Amino acid sequence: MPFGNWQDYDGRMTRPPSTSARAKASAAFTPLGLASELDAAKAAAARAWNAPALAAAPVVWLRDHAAEMAPPDAADVAGLRAFLLALEVETPATAGPSGATPAEDPGSALDAPLCALCRGRCCRFGLDGRAFLEPQHLRAWLARHPGAAWVDAVDHWLGFIGAQHLRGSCLFHGRAGCTLPRERRSDVCNQFACDALEQARDVAAADPRAAVVAGIAAAHALRRAAVVSAEGLRPLFP
Ligand code: SF4
Ligand code: SF4
Repeated sequence: MPFGNWQDYDGRMTRPPSTSARAKASAAFTPLGLASELDAAKAAAARAWNAPALAAAPVVWLRDHAAEMAPPDAADVAGLRAFLLALEVETPATAGPSGATPAEDPGSALDAPLCALCRGRCCRFGLDGRAFLEPQHLRAWLARHPGAAWVDAVDHWLGFIGAQHLRGSCLFHGRAGCTLPRERRSDVCNQFACDALEQARDVAAADPRAAVVAGIAAAHALRRAAVVSAEGLRPLFP
């Protein structure tokens, strides 16, 4: 079941942490030489499934990435702890106890299945990016916990690190997605959308019943492909 462990994936980010990071995380591209291969697979599935509309479904592209699980590196955990502790004195003057409530979700029914298929490639930037946490996120928690110290807030966040995470990715990147509750994630994580996700949202906005075909490219090969719809994922080939 190549997609089974990620069906409940909920770890996407939906806004760029920065222009440079967005450029890195952007998942929408058209790999040379693979478009015709995906078109052929799409047409074959349309015939096999007696679903002629599938042949005209829009295509989005994702990049493959490794999915090996590993225990969090102690140095990475220590680095995140030091980073979060240091945020206490880096609080900008404008920052207040906000950020506890996720921004209104501009998403679509295609978000979860597309990000499940992707397995959170954008979250790979959350390791060096320290999950994009900012002072106001911890302050929001402290405002709801009178008497708690900054270090308590830091320990609260670190408590969401699982026994295993996606090797080389954010410490909160678990097998089934982000281990942080949505209200504990950074604004960046709650609002980031890669280009492929934006394209899928555009399709869904025009027709909520519409599907897209997502191809995953790796090293000049079409690794996987699936129909992404409000009903979930349907692989185009084993
Ligand atoms: S599809 Fe885009 S937004 Fe969703 S997890 Fe993948 S890179 Fe992130
Ligand atoms: S905290 Fe990490 S795993 Fe969770 S959404 Fe943000 S980058 Fe992804």
